[in-house]
Amino acid sequence: MANQEDIFKKVISHAKEYGYVFQSSEIYDGLSAVYDYGHNGVELKNNIRQYWWKAMVQLNENIVGIDAAIFMHPTTWKASGHVDAFNDPLIDNKDSKKRYRADVLIEDYVGKIDAKIEKEVAKAEKRFGENFNKQKFLETNPRVVEYLEQGKSILSRMAKSLEKEDLADVKALIEELDIACPMSGSKNWTDVKQFNLMFGTKLGASAENAMDLYLRPETAQGIFVNFLNVQKAGRMKIPFGIAQTGKAFRNEIVARQFIFRMREFEQMEMQFFIQPGTQQEWYEHWKEHRMKWHLSLGMGEDNYRFHDHEKLAHYADAAADIEFRFPFGFKELEGIHSRTDFDLGSHEKYSGKKLQYFDHETNRNYVPYVLETSIGLDRMFLAVFSNSLQEEELENGTSRTVLKLPAVLAPTKAAILPLVKKDGLPKVAQQIMDELKWDFNVTYDEKDAVGRRYRRQDANGTPFCITVDHQTLEDQTVTIRHRDSMDQERVAISALKGIIHEAVDMRTWLQKMEA
Ligand code: ATP
Repeated sequence: MANQEDIFKKVISHAKEYGYVFQSSEIYDGLSAVYDYGHNGVELKNNIRQYWWKAMVQLNENIVGIDAAIFMHPTTWKASGHVDAFNDPLIDNKDSKKRYRADVLIEDYVGKIDAKIEKEVAKAEKRFGENFNKQKFLETNPRVVEYLEQGKSILSRMAKSLEKEDLADVKALIEELDIACPMSGSKNWTDVKQFNLMFGTKLGASAENAMDLYLRPETAQGIFVNFLNVQKAGRMKIPFGIAQTGKAFRNEIVARQFIFRMREFEQMEMQFFIQPGTQQEWYEHWKEHRMKWHLSLGMGEDNYRFHDHEKLAHYADAAADIEFRFPFGFKELEGIHSRTDFDLGSHEKYSGKKLQYFDHETNRNYVPYVLETSIGLDRMFLAVFSNSLQEEELENGTSRTVLKLPAVLAPTKAAILPLVKKDGLPKVAQQIMDELKWDFNVTYDEKDAVGRRYRRQDANGTPFCITVDHQTLEDQTVTIRHRDSMDQERVAISALKGIIHEAVDMRTWLQKMEA
């Protein structure tokens, strides 16, 4: 089996070769941790965004969207706490000159302990077969219990030290755990320092009266400052939510994981405004609801897990991540945060404007509490793309590369292929294209033998190939080939629209959330 690093390399090269993701400014040797999306990438990204928007906005009567500007008044970031507290602890290795996030080095160390636990579980599962009780094994196997405790105690010490800003202890922990630079193996570390992640820029023509601005590091603040506008204009009653997708910018210290950690990325966030005191109940609700959204895509229940935060951000009273099994292990994909009245309360203070809700039932004003769901669109893209890329051994001894994207998200839904480039077959294929293109993204391909064209579409992630042959001219039927099973059936041209619709319709997929 290929190792994790090889699989990840394959993901990156496949993304480039098939027009999903390119390094930004590649002809100038690229810009680190900045990426461009190609012709397929933009479609996949749009589809993920739409899948999220429908689930959050269209299907929830009490959630509406906005699109706020990237530039915001600089006081926003004072109020939100980002000027003072949006820091990552960084550490440099003196020999390799490589820079790391101290917390990530420690989390990766714990990740290795987790991998050992998974190995023990897999071994035991094999040994005990059907009688295996995973939960019981995790609770009672002495070795596993020790690993679990070890991991927990490391994370809890790190959380406490970061909370107290005791950076010396964070360094001490790295040294005690004997963590080496992953690039060089050296353990010669500098002290841990804090580093603010916001990008600064200037607004205004002349240097003297230019105003210092930041590129927004999260989209959430655009929602908070518009809370009252939306509530009034939309006549919204609590509980209600405001959703937004858009670019965010962070000067990330370490950016070596392709589109997992970028300096310019897109977020899909929803802030849900609630009555103080109901946060626990809504926290559970949104955790469950968001997990269902992920599972509806059918990418495997085992690939997700919740991780409850030990260290809470300055604004939160509870927080959990939905983690996904990326090619480099389980990592955060989405965050669900109970933000209390921190943000609205703070904007009230800094702006001098009331940001309160009048509850007609109780005749009282209050600053609502907030429950947030926040997911990176690019990170979701990586989850979908890396999970879908598979190398399959076939019965005839050959293999194929297939991108098994959930059909609802696939950039191109069907490829129309005339069996040969003559006898009027291209014309019929073109007619089918002209009909289907009103409903779906479809493509036409007449180059090379049909088997090679199938492989090309497999690698591209296209769920259906429709082949026009000589029989088509006689009876108006074509073959339709399914990407995942490679099964082929003969169907009437007039049935194509219905078959494709059934497989790619967002409704069918999103309804799985209700199951
Ligand atoms: P991490 O711990 O990985 O730095 P975070 O906890 O800072 O992430 P949040 O501030 O909670 O992340 O942001 C919400 C979501 O935005 C994350 O779950 C992730 O999907 C996405 N995200 C955050 N930073 C980046 C980034 N640099 N590149 C791509 N996506 C990101």
